[in-house]
Amino acid sequence: MATETTIRVVSCGELRAGDAGGSVCLRGWVNRRRDHGGLIFIDLRDRDGLTQLVFDPSSPDLPADVFATAERLRAEFVISVNANVRLRLPGTQKADLATGGIEGAVTALTILNESLTPPFVVAGDDDVDENVRLRYRYLDLRRPRMQRNLTVRHKIVKAMRDYFDARGFLEIETPNLIKSTPEGARDYLVPSRVHQGAFYALPQSPQLLKQILMIGGLGRYMQIARCFRDEDPRADRQPEFTQLDVEMTFVEEADVMAMMEGCVIDVWRTALGVSIATPIERLTYEDAIRRFGSDKPDLRFGLELTDVAQIVAGSDFPLFATLAAGAGNRIIALRYPGGAVLSRREFDALAETAKGFGAKGLPYLAFTADGLKGSIVKVVSPEIVAELQRYTAAQTGDALLFVGEAHALASDIAGRLRIEIAERLKLRDPKAFAFCWVYHFPLFERDAETGAITFSHHPFTAPGPGQEDLFDSDPLRVRAQHYDLVLNGYELGSGSIRNHKEAFQRKVFHRLGLDDATIEDRFGFFMEALRFGAPPHGGMALGLDRIVMLACGETSIRDVIAFPKNQLARDLMMDAPSSVPAAALRDLGLSINVKPQPAQL
Ligand code: ASP
Repeated sequence: MATETTIRVVSCGELRAGDAGGSVCLRGWVNRRRDHGGLIFIDLRDRDGLTQLVFDPSSPDLPADVFATAERLRAEFVISVNANVRLRLPGTQKADLATGGIEGAVTALTILNESLTPPFVVAGDDDVDENVRLRYRYLDLRRPRMQRNLTVRHKIVKAMRDYFDARGFLEIETPNLIKSTPEGARDYLVPSRVHQGAFYALPQSPQLLKQILMIGGLGRYMQIARCFRDEDPRADRQPEFTQLDVEMTFVEEADVMAMMEGCVIDVWRTALGVSIATPIERLTYEDAIRRFGSDKPDLRFGLELTDVAQIVAGSDFPLFATLAAGAGNRIIALRYPGGAVLSRREFDALAETAKGFGAKGLPYLAFTADGLKGSIVKVVSPEIVAELQRYTAAQTGDALLFVGEAHALASDIAGRLRIEIAERLKLRDPKAFAFCWVYHFPLFERDAETGAITFSHHPFTAPGPGQEDLFDSDPLRVRAQHYDLVLNGYELGSGSIRNHKEAFQRKVFHRLGLDDATIEDRFGFFMEALRFGAPPHGGMALGLDRIVMLACGETSIRDVIAFPKNQLARDLMMDAPSSVPAAALRDLGLSINVKPQPAQL
């Protein structure tokens, strides 16, 4: 028997017709075993692909004991074989498999390890319950989908590193045991054993550290950074996630946007082979809300919102008249292409959907071939209908849905209905990549719960030039030098130009209700750094998990993370979080005064 090292070792995806006649060694997992006419067929699998192996008891090259061992093989056994490569017989070739023209006639076999019967078929693409996939993640990772996704992830990260390296950026690691940096979430805390009663916070992002790197004169920084945010679990939220984090000195908004845009274009080209139309469209926040009812508009389709308050103000529909009279309101018409065929009941169902978004109702007009129909047909004059048709370009066959509410609510409802219509009409091409920038966000917003003024991005974001005057008189109108990159309706990331003068940063903190003592306690180190010649600077972070998810055509970030937490923030494979021995708590000077909860999936 030839020893495995004397012959060429190949991967399971490597052999082609040209290799026929040679002898090779292959190692991998038993993907499937089929017994057929006295022969045993094994599909051998590794990261690279599948190769068909044949154990032929009538072959003089196959020792009898090897055939007996082959009979023991089961799915997921790990084996090493020597095999003679030969062409498959005509009619048995597989065009959809890279190695489908050949097979390996086995001459030697070693079982490197056995496997328990897997809880799901690794070779199949059947839908497996996600909690089972996560519990046995190592088996799930063997499946082609996860292998492909993690390969794409690697390529994207590499493309990012190469892009920034070529432009003079340094990749610098920032620590994970730090003091809190606020990004609007709760911190994960790590108790200190050495300093009992004191805690580190895990970074919600490296925000302050990257700004201090700029103050430290490093000029151009990037990092593939892990961030931790202790928020309530939600379908697609991970307690820890990865972002491409970037910061630069002596830049304005447009410089950072151009740099990041270049990165995304480069990544899509080199890692995915897709060219993105440039320049990426730029929308002010106000325009995004006005036209699409969202600050992360999906631009794969049109269906823009039309403001019709002026047109319908004079109608006999009391709601329109009242709303049109109020300054802070919006009346929006949304065109539903082909919507005129909907039945009354279907329009009622759509109104229920709108109510779920916060609407009081959903008046509509349907331009059917038999004339105008709809819930408000009696209260709008033919002149108004003609104007509406002109403004919205509604054709025969279309319907118009009307949303009238306070400005922000109306925009939000109409924005969500726009998506709903696009979904029904299948306008969201899963293979299309529609990027856009949204910028000039408000610097502050009102906290929905407390009504207090809070930051929209984070407290280090600078207002736009000339906006400082509004700062005291009308803070909610101040526009920030804050930009978001959006893809297919998802926010890929945010960035901003920062406050680099200590006095102004203090003013922002004051505006947010922090007094000097609190500023000193939480941000004293940073305020001090700003006083030592902090240069103008700005940057951005892009969510890596989300980018990879969209690039892979997945709908959950868990499918592009090797070891994600489940939807309840648990690691099901390691069983974390979990209780710790009493001695560990004693060391930390901690005591627990809640009853341990029964573990949930
Ligand atoms: N630190 C911000 C974030 O994590 C990004 C940035 O402003 O650079 O969203």
